[in-house]
Amino acid sequence: MNNYVLLLKYGEVVMKGLNRSYFDSLIVRRVKQLLKFVEGEFTLEYAQSTLCIVGSEGADMDDAADKMKRVFGIASVCRAWRCEKTVDAIRATVAEHIDELIGDAKTFKCEGKRSDKSFPLSSPALSGEIGGTILQLKPYLKVDVVNPDICIKLEVRDKYAAVHGGGEKGAGGMPNGSAGHGMLLLSGGIDSPVAGYLMAKRGLALDALYFDSPPYTSQAAEDKVNALAEAVARYCGKLYMHTISLTEIQEVLMRDCDERLFTILLRRFMMRLAEKQALDVGAAALITGESLGQVASQTLHALTVTNAIPQIPVFRPCIAMDKDEIVQISRKIGTFDISILPYEDCCTVFVPRHPNTRPTMEQILEQEAKLDIEGLVERAFATRRHKKIVG
Ligand code: ATP
Ligand code: MG
Repeated sequence: MNNYVLLLKYGEVVMKGLNRSYFDSLIVRRVKQLLKFVEGEFTLEYAQSTLCIVGSEGADMDDAADKMKRVFGIASVCRAWRCEKTVDAIRATVAEHIDELIGDAKTFKCEGKRSDKSFPLSSPALSGEIGGTILQLKPYLKVDVVNPDICIKLEVRDKYAAVHGGGEKGAGGMPNGSAGHGMLLLSGGIDSPVAGYLMAKRGLALDALYFDSPPYTSQAAEDKVNALAEAVARYCGKLYMHTISLTEIQEVLMRDCDERLFTILLRRFMMRLAEKQALDVGAAALITGESLGQVASQTLHALTVTNAIPQIPVFRPCIAMDKDEIVQISRKIGTFDISILPYEDCCTVFVPRHPNTRPTMEQILEQEAKLDIEGLVERAFATRRHKKIVG
């Protein structure tokens, strides 16, 4: 029997009550989706808030473990050896894998955890017993219960025992799709992919919407946004990437409106189109990468007039973050290197020299009164294109 397994420990979902099985089923669905791309066959066994993944002979458990670290809802991923739940079997398993368990540690401790109370030894007694075995096998080791180089965990569960050297941090958050469906406004910048990741982590399934402005924006810029969508999809799973052209709207705004209000007027059009697109696909929230005060269109005044457009909630998870905090997350999720590629964005096509950072609703409405808003929105909406992205 292949006794090297992955133990996925569930996070916040364990606090759910009656609808717990729904959350669990979403985790299992995501795990299965990801395991399809890993060499080998896998079986899943669920018990006691832990999903045990058993691989066939030769299955690529390292690749599986890496992928499992992207599953939202999982607090930790342990690479473990599973055995019968007897002291002898646990001792034999520790002895067989002692080199892999200890590595180059000089100090250790054993931490037994007996969730099956019919097991003959208490948790501390099991720790002492197996700790003694380890000292016999590796006499140079020292026990350090406060700050050991390695902590060997001995878990006695209902159906089996497991031995491992501690878990790696999982993705945390809530299972994909458990919180509903959101439309991410995805530009080529650093912030919006991070915003999408953060809301997916709280359980939103995502679609993404990119506004281009041909011929002012290029195919290379669109390819870059597609690459960002693929990177976000590694976490949130499948998503649809929608593209809408703002060319006519931008040209009309440049021709007919006060240049200082151009960006904010454009952002209100983005919101109109994003909400329309969200409702079209059944998404019930918008997500942006805005961060308070970062640029002229993200002052409190500017956000107030932008926010007045949509009826559905707009989530801005980066709103309170410094740029370097956002950058840190973008590096962690692998979007940073893509985001810094130097392609133009529709927002950078016509940038006012002196944007108004304190726009009022009266000023905005006065400008918009000059426009055929409905017609502009309808024609822009008709330029929609869609692409499926699998993550
Ligand atoms: P980012 O780094 O995400 O591009 P930013 O700091 O450059 O953000 P803005 O360009 O003002 O800020 O955009 C604010 C938010 O509006 C973005 O985070 C994104 O959610 C949305 N947005 C901006 N441009 C586009 C676009 N071309 N397509 C889709 N969404 C966009
Ligand atoms: Mg941007």
